[in-house]
Amino acid sequence: MRKTRLAGTFAGIAIAALALAGCNSGSPTAPGAEGGTGGEGTEGSEALWEVASDVSLDGSPTFDRASEAGKIVVGVKSDQPGLGYEDAVSGERTGFDVDIARWIAASLGFDEDQIDFQTIPSANREQEIVNGNIDYYVGTYSMTDARDEVIDFAGPYFITGQGLLVAADDDSINGPEDLADKVTCSVTGSTPLQRIRDEYNGEVTERQTYSECVEQLLNGQVDAITTDEAILAGYVAEDPDNLKLAGEPFSEERYGVGLADGDTVLKDHINTLFTDGGDVWTALYEKYLEPAGVKAEQPEVD
Ligand code: GLU
Repeated sequence: MRKTRLAGTFAGIAIAALALAGCNSGSPTAPGAEGGTGGEGTEGSEALWEVASDVSLDGSPTFDRASEAGKIVVGVKSDQPGLGYEDAVSGERTGFDVDIARWIAASLGFDEDQIDFQTIPSANREQEIVNGNIDYYVGTYSMTDARDEVIDFAGPYFITGQGLLVAADDDSINGPEDLADKVTCSVTGSTPLQRIRDEYNGEVTERQTYSECVEQLLNGQVDAITTDEAILAGYVAEDPDNLKLAGEPFSEERYGVGLADGDTVLKDHINTLFTDGGDVWTALYEKYLEPAGVKAEQPEVD
């Protein structure tokens, strides 16, 4: 195995992750979940915003549909600690993306009881939005031109980059060019899967979720996982004895809120919420992502 020192940024992330693990040792909960079980689920975050009353979003078909139904249907992830996570025991949903979704719902006048969270994997996102099965989607969803053809995006609300997750004792992988004689796992319908296939050599295996990839890595069935660093850092924070990030980020992933194509009224509403809501953004970032060593600033919306 080749030995190469980890780049400074990632050494920093690894140290932060270890520090976090030290505080939470033995806890199966996501970073920021603060104990995870019991309570009213969104403890803490809801205090950051109020549920709006008398909202009217003239010209938003999504808002009209949700108002009529008396609930808002939101697509999220459930296996990405710190971003979109559902506790298997309590059913509590936590994470930066999940709370961004709650914040948007509150700005539209929907309280926690009126949010219908649906776990939707990467590969199904556009179709679920196009079919009208969800009102919006918040789940590590990169704004790309191809996706923009069929849906709209509000945002970006977060920027990260594609990275690599490897076994903690593996020094042979320090960038995507080291994957040529390795097996790498990523997720169907994701931008990192496409990029690793198109631009780098090596065997690639695909799964429906990143947690399936993590299982394969821990079992030794694959050598690496590739997706956004913000996602990978969440897995490291949960299991720093066995997992680490490797190398430098090699793309820019700009996360947006997926919406029905043409609902510019809703898109503008969410963009204004983000632009005016810097304090909320910072509080959620500090709660969920900073503890896992994820470095980011609030981006300007498009
Ligand atoms: N941000 C990338 C994407 O939207 C990867 C993460 C994901 O699969 O959700 O494809």
